Amino acid sequence: MKNQELVDYLMSCGVCKVCQLRYLRARGSEYNDIHKSLQRLGVKVTEDQVEDEDNVISTDEQPLKKPRLTHCSTCLGIFSEDFQRELIEGIIASEFGKYDSEGIVLAITMPMSLQLRQLSMWFALQRKFGSTVHSNSPPDVPIKEAVKLILHPIICKKLDKKYDANGLVISIDLRHKVEEEEVDKLVELNRAAFPGKALRRVEISRGLLEKQYQPSRVKAETFEKYLPIPPPAVDESLSLKSVDLQGPMVCVAGRYRKLSRELSHTPWLLQGVRQMEDSIEEIIIRSVGPHFTETVPKITFMSSGREDVDVRCLGKGRPFVLEIPNSRRSTLTREQALAMEQAVDTSGKVSILNLQVVPREQAMNIKTGEEQKRKYYRALCALKEPATLEMLQKLQISESFDIQQKTPIRVLHRRPLHTRPRTIYSVKARLQRDNPLVLVIDIVTQAGTYIKELVHGEFGRTTPSFSSIIGKPIDIQALDVVGIDLDWPPEVDNSVAQ
Ligand SMILES: [Zn+2]
Repeated sequence: MKNQELVDYLMSCGVCKVCQLRYLRARGSEYNDIHKSLQRLGVKVTEDQVEDEDNVISTDEQPLKKPRLTHCSTCLGIFSEDFQRELIEGIIASEFGKYDSEGIVLAITMPMSLQLRQLSMWFALQRKFGSTVHSNSPPDVPIKEAVKLILHPIICKKLDKKYDANGLVISIDLRHKVEEEEVDKLVELNRAAFPGKALRRVEISRGLLEKQYQPSRVKAETFEKYLPIPPPAVDESLSLKSVDLQGPMVCVAGRYRKLSRELSHTPWLLQGVRQMEDSIEEIIIRSVGPHFTETVPKITFMSSGREDVDVRCLGKGRPFVLEIPNSRRSTLTREQALAMEQAVDTSGKVSILNLQVVPREQAMNIKTGEEQKRKYYRALCALKEPATLEMLQKLQISESFDIQQKTPIRVLHRRPLHTRPRTIYSVKARLQRDNPLVLVIDIVTQAGTYIKELVHGEFGRTTPSFSSIIGKPIDIQALDVVGIDLDWPPEVDNSVAQ
């Protein structure tokens, strides 16, 4: 079959020029100049077509809507300039303008009629050209692929965006008035073509069509009892049913310092009753979230470990990351970040720094090696009798040692009972302002060590403990986290102008 013969036949069936190129199996950039590509493939372009092409080009300046009697029988007009305009207008009329994402992804759902029509044309070509048209690989570049090749670049260009798999997802649902009727026919056809596997209408899917509906599985004669071969042209083009937008997941990281001994990590509820009016999570999200999204409650807060309610976290602070789904913005200037840091500071309970947008794939850094990390603590401890030099010497330990720690009684209601080994890297005790009853002890431990129990031993549930080491009772009065061994996120000083 010659290209010209094929194109002549397609034209007689009401197939548009873009689809003619699809049936000539054009690839990529060949769709940029349809006219030239047709000529290069040895197809004569008629005057009528040239004129049509000219009209198409001039539409940018002045929409010259040439009244069209029919629309392409195989693509239902999806590649026409008119439809492209409708698509762009539809996207712009959505909340598209509220997103600042530089990249976009298009997810276009097409009526099943397009697949049925592709099959119908496949049958028609087999009849017309015989054995040159295979029955197990489609004779055209499938519409789904052609949409990616042709429509995606045009839409990106018109919207001045880049194609980016991590960008704003624009889901476009298309419909056509013939779909309803054609799918009804398909349900009947399906019964005839695959007897014994009767499907209801809702069970007919695009995936099923893709898999089952090929000339090698359905006979043309059966198909034709329900739907015409070749597919007829239509008097109306596809239209836009809906445009849905889903912004990218943006991750914002930083470090927090917990300055209060009366603040929980996340909202603290006991039997549905709030125990504390605020939490670290809420204070941070309240200041950072609204910049990125209108659905603040969907934000997830993660940190590299956590403190107990009565423990402060000082030093450089604890790394945290917010996962913000459907984000409208993907950037944060230093100025904006600084304003957020200052807003959190006004709580007086939490302070944050190094606030920045981080690549999504880095967000899980927060959880890596959580068990292996070293943690740095400072504990204020009380003795029942004055400290002796011997006690102080016993609590100067520069070589690491292991302890066995049973799950503390205070957390047994939410953690299973285990005995876990934990490594203590160093212990350094000194007197608090020459008060012999109070010790300040700096401790470096493996993450996951229960520090309070390490100090008092909890009736031998943690061994050895500081109490067992000095052979005297000792209790903890206050605890601060002074360092977390995680070199992430990178340090940025938002108070320095860019
Ligand atoms: Zn077409």
